Amino acid sequence: MRYFIGNWKMFGVPKAINILNKINSFQSKDKNRNKYRVIITPPYTLIETFAKYFTNKKIIIGSQNCYQKEQFSSNTGAVSPYMIRSVGAKCTLIGHSDNRAEGDTDLMLKDKVKFALKNNLKVIYCIGENKVQKNNNKTFSVLKKQLTKVLEKKFDQKKIIVAYEPIWSIGTGKIPNEKDLLKTTIYIKKTLKNIFKSNSPAVLYGGSVDESNVEIFSKIKEIDGFLIGGASKSSKKFIDIIKNYYSYR
Ligand code: PEP
Repeated sequence: MRYFIGNWKMFGVPKAINILNKINSFQSKDKNRNKYRVIITPPYTLIETFAKYFTNKKIIIGSQNCYQKEQFSSNTGAVSPYMIRSVGAKCTLIGHSDNRAEGDTDLMLKDKVKFALKNNLKVIYCIGENKVQKNNNKTFSVLKKQLTKVLEKKFDQKKIIVAYEPIWSIGTGKIPNEKDLLKTTIYIKKTLKNIFKSNSPAVLYGGSVDESNVEIFSKIKEIDGFLIGGASKSSKKFIDIIKNYYSYR
């Protein structure tokens, strides 16, 4: 199974449902539709309406983050996994570099993963090195730490997807070279197999994926899909990413 996940970040008001409608109609007719899943993570404000609207349709609605407590608490502005699940989200991103930069620690991320899974949310756990770490050849040690400090054998590996997003690539138009990306993806899968003592969860790539560079990524069969930021706000770009991915394969 392949995954095309669109992370809207701070984008979208109710009428943006039109974008998803177009993606959904494309997917419903696409000859490759059974080979992949489309997940969109709109902001919290749109989860409930979008999730209701797309029940029994192709698109799956998820959340971009969740708070590290299970249900209710006195944390102003926080939204828990229980609350997210109760309005119809099926999954959540955890550990996006935006949130790590805002202070999310390994300990907080572990609680987020734990409570998300407990509330029946699938987890898309994001990892990635920054430019300095890459230049100092620290990529593998950074990724290993991000994986081993947060994920545990007792977590259900079937409910977890890992998204490798080099921070220097997010929103910059820069992408890793094919050889590096293949090596890194294999390393991540090896590390995950060690943690779970079983098959690796799906590993996605994220960082400036668009309709033209997806050709490069489509050649790397170890990559199980994509986390797409900027290009997911345009139905045309998002649909072209899927179309091109399969036409190059
Ligand atoms: C992201 O923020 O998760 C992301 C991958 O963004 P972009 O595709 O815009 O680089």
